[in-house]
Amino acid sequence: MSSPHALILPYPAQGHVIPLMELSYCLIERGFQITFINTEFNHERISVGSILDEAKFIDGIHFVTIPDGLEPEEDRHNFGRLTTSLTTVMPSFLEELMRNKAVKFTCFIADINMAWAITIAKNAGLRTAAIWPAAAGVLVTLLSIPKLIQDGVIDENGTPMKKEVIQLNPGMTPTDTSNLPWYFLHDEYTQKIMFNYMIANNQATSYAEMIICNSFEMLEKPVFKEMPYILPVGPLHNSFESIRDPNLCYFWSEDKQCISWLNKHPANSVIYVAFGSITIFNNKQFQELALGLELIGRPFLWVVRPDMTNKSISCTYPSGFEERVADRGRIVGWSPQQKVLKHPAIACFISHCGWNSTIEGVRNGVPFLCWPYFVDQLFNQSYITKVWKVGLSLVPDENGLISKEEVRSKVEELLKDRDILARSQALKNFSNISVMEGGSSFKNLNKFADVMREI
Ligand code: UDP
Repeated sequence: MSSPHALILPYPAQGHVIPLMELSYCLIERGFQITFINTEFNHERISVGSILDEAKFIDGIHFVTIPDGLEPEEDRHNFGRLTTSLTTVMPSFLEELMRNKAVKFTCFIADINMAWAITIAKNAGLRTAAIWPAAAGVLVTLLSIPKLIQDGVIDENGTPMKKEVIQLNPGMTPTDTSNLPWYFLHDEYTQKIMFNYMIANNQATSYAEMIICNSFEMLEKPVFKEMPYILPVGPLHNSFESIRDPNLCYFWSEDKQCISWLNKHPANSVIYVAFGSITIFNNKQFQELALGLELIGRPFLWVVRPDMTNKSISCTYPSGFEERVADRGRIVGWSPQQKVLKHPAIACFISHCGWNSTIEGVRNGVPFLCWPYFVDQLFNQSYITKVWKVGLSLVPDENGLISKEEVRSKVEELLKDRDILARSQALKNFSNISVMEGGSSFKNLNKFADVMREI
């Protein structure tokens, strides 16, 4: 009998491609063949300097590319434009791919942010599943949109009727309505497009046979108790970080010296600073952070992506900064973050609290200093600081600036807090247990694979 073959579709952003690639490896370990869909634009970025060949087949994964419908120079962070384009251009390519007689797919696994594609797979006769690459608590918030509208908490466009704290289910973290995950865009037009896009994806998710999520039972217990149909299978990582070439999913080339640089440092001595793949800084805040890192006087590893600054206002280091910190600071364009967080030299993580960064920090028992921007990052910050209590928030001053003194004092406070360190270690242990043979996420993954492999 031929092995089951999964067709996998991530939302075309770095924080989605990585976890869906990790899921792919978990399925390969369970006997699956994988076809992974990237947009042409992202595939180009991944291929640069990597080992992907002409046939786009490597490591048990077959890569196919589909256009996203935008011109190469267009901004992929314009979510409204990108999602409109994806839903217009991609369906016909997907239909053709799924109906192609040469490859017989057994199942289709879509990122919930691309769940509209599930109906296409259903029509093509495939088994279907949806994966949520963020906190299950955020998914519950999204699935509650109809009720929130009905209860008058938000209007038809997702705008909160007033600023208030709501609790969606008993045991769930209370959420401030001004932090709802869809309510982050300044322009009303894009906000409306994104809100409708999320509603459409919610509806389409209900057609999926299974919903899995990159979390684990102990991490969001009240949510999984309330919503047992969401299966936690995380932290997704498996052999990815040790065996596979990360160039298969990194949009930037990683700095190859990070680990050897970390090897020179004692345990718990280095501050890791990274803000994911889309956060951008203004020059004032960028300089203040640099001065804060200088003020701390400890070694640091800081990821400054080449596109971290706004196109119109570029960021510069404070005068003389690079020379002054040369002996203890390493600044890189992109790090192999999973390996970095696993390294014993790391003492804490100054993070924007994207979900992947959050779960990667949790998995490695690294305490956080939270610097969230938007979407689900504020929700994740609440988990880190109020529910799991494995980190502290960096608080902006009255002008919205996180000052160098705030950075310095919070790092010192965090590193002295033995309770936070102990809780971080405890969470790491729970995380390890969940992915070990017999652990809850391990069993859920097996269950998932069993359903998906049935014809
Ligand atoms: N990442 C990385 N190297 C870096 C910065 C980030 O490998 O220098 C990875 C990180 O490990 C995570 C992903 O990029 O898997 C970022 O996802 P996250 O959800 O944290 O943030 P987003 O980019 O979606 O805002």
